[in-house]
Amino acid sequence: MPKSEKRQITLQGIPAAPGICIGLAYLVGTNSKEVVRKYAVERGDITDECSRMRKAVKKAEKEISFLIKKMQEDSAQQAFILESHLAVLRDKMFFTFTMDTIKKKRVNAEWALKITVDRLTHNFNKIEDEYIRDRSSDIYHVAERVMRNLVGDEDKGIDTIHKRVILVAPDLSPAEASQIRVEWVQGFVTDRGGRTSHTGIVARNLQLPAVLGLGNATTQIRTEDVIIVDGIAGLVVVHPDESTLVEYSEAQARYENHLTQISKNSHQPATSLDGRTTDVSANIELLEEVVSVKDKGADGIGLYRTEFLYMNRRNLPTEEELYENYKDAVDLMEGKPVTIRTLDVAGEKVAKGLMAPHEDNPALGQRAIRFCMRHPGILRTQLRAILRAASHGKIRLLFPMISSVEEIIAVNQIVREVRKNLDSQGIEYGKDVETGIMIEIPSAAIIADMFAPHVDFFSIGTNDLIQYSLAVDRGNKNVAHLFQPLHPAVLRMVKRVSEIAKEGGIRMAMCGEMAADPLNIPLLMGMDFDEFSMNPQAVPVVKSVIRTLDHGQCRLLLEEALKLPTADEIADLIQGAYGDLVFQHPLFLSGDNQEQQEQTSNNHGE
Ligand code: PEP
Ligand code: MG
Repeated sequence: MPKSEKRQITLQGIPAAPGICIGLAYLVGTNSKEVVRKYAVERGDITDECSRMRKAVKKAEKEISFLIKKMQEDSAQQAFILESHLAVLRDKMFFTFTMDTIKKKRVNAEWALKITVDRLTHNFNKIEDEYIRDRSSDIYHVAERVMRNLVGDEDKGIDTIHKRVILVAPDLSPAEASQIRVEWVQGFVTDRGGRTSHTGIVARNLQLPAVLGLGNATTQIRTEDVIIVDGIAGLVVVHPDESTLVEYSEAQARYENHLTQISKNSHQPATSLDGRTTDVSANIELLEEVVSVKDKGADGIGLYRTEFLYMNRRNLPTEEELYENYKDAVDLMEGKPVTIRTLDVAGEKVAKGLMAPHEDNPALGQRAIRFCMRHPGILRTQLRAILRAASHGKIRLLFPMISSVEEIIAVNQIVREVRKNLDSQGIEYGKDVETGIMIEIPSAAIIADMFAPHVDFFSIGTNDLIQYSLAVDRGNKNVAHLFQPLHPAVLRMVKRVSEIAKEGGIRMAMCGEMAADPLNIPLLMGMDFDEFSMNPQAVPVVKSVIRTLDHGQCRLLLEEALKLPTADEIADLIQGAYGDLVFQHPLFLSGDNQEQQEQTSNNHGE
């Protein structure tokens, strides 16, 4: 990584996901429609700032010329409009004025451009001729394009990134985060968000170092700036000098060595210091992911989301196709359990031809088991395939979105009928398949005791349970900060379900991503879960955290946590008790501590 000639700046934010990365910044989501911020540029940096502006304009020129070429064949009129955009770019009033503002007022290029645009549109608005007055929209469009080039290529979206970068964004919505490809994105930095925000959870799940809540990262960092993200201390170093680069490169190597150590033991059971073993399984959506599940040392598949085979196709999958798929999963897992969840999708997304009506609010509509009960033929076919595959290995059957006891009674009735049919047809199937329900709707959590006689296990789906109990759309960026797994209401609910499961002698799992976050593990351990299931990447870390915890101590910590009124206070409590462990602090601080950690994990691996 070349050292930067610019002055080193260190920004302090919230440490959201451990790890260190060093690389080139890539700004996303800094939409020019958002408020343009002003900042002062030092005298020595004026030339650089002018060159940024020049480059952004040159790029805009190239883009427009390319569009003109393409358009001349189809639409002469549109090409003409774009020609006028080129003229604006080259106009003294636009370009020279902006450059002069940067130099004279010593402000950033974005701010100088904003001054130009405000001035020009003000002047245009005074013109009486409607046609000429309307030309102010050309200035607006041209300025938009230049602004976009100044702040980064956000228009292209995260999924188009094909070089190693560190994302810098005002915030990341779950949808944006889901586009992150870990082979390209090294880490991320945001203006907003905190440890308990969805963005923080995503970062920890993807195991990407992240510092959130920096307030003004997007105005201090430019695309292509060299930056260091220290997700342990919550620091971002912009334009690091030589010695800082060396120091952090060493720390990064130590940290990565630690992760390697963790992976070495991940195939061993996760047993706490006082001897309690919890299964740590993985969630998958595709059969292809089984490789990664095994590679990461998961104890089973705790959630197979089966939607994929039903989507983006004209026909529904056949029983045979489903059976082959489930059988392959079971075979590949070589005796380890596979929990298959029946179709959890809204009708509109399933194969065309079902004529599912459009719904204004699909999250509260005919989704999952509601959809399957409306189309019992689809459910029966899937159940037959699952039960048949169960003759090849250990399968658990899981029903999503159960909200009332009537539903589970009706579903169980269908399962009985399917078994009877298979019997009468002399078709082989697994006779000892356990059935369970997702606890992901508040009503199910509240009356969990009434479900207990009807099922063999509960699996808490926190992704939806949090969405429905806190009234926070899990995909909505604007409320992402309110998506709080450690919200006292969520904790109380989960604790209550765990007590009911214990009383009823029912197996208890959590398959929502709350279980993937090392920060939550001490409290979840205190609730005596039998199984945690999560994205495969998180399995080794969660196992390593469990091995360093004392189950009895976790119960005491849980009692303390339940007295606190806010998610932040609860997070602070956990961090106070186990922060070093969860964020692997000692490791970063010195090489000696690392040896000690390796020793601990080796002992557990034996
Ligand atoms: C959940 O809701 O927590 C869950 C695991 O299911 P999904 O994310 O598929 O809705
Ligand atoms: Mg769910």
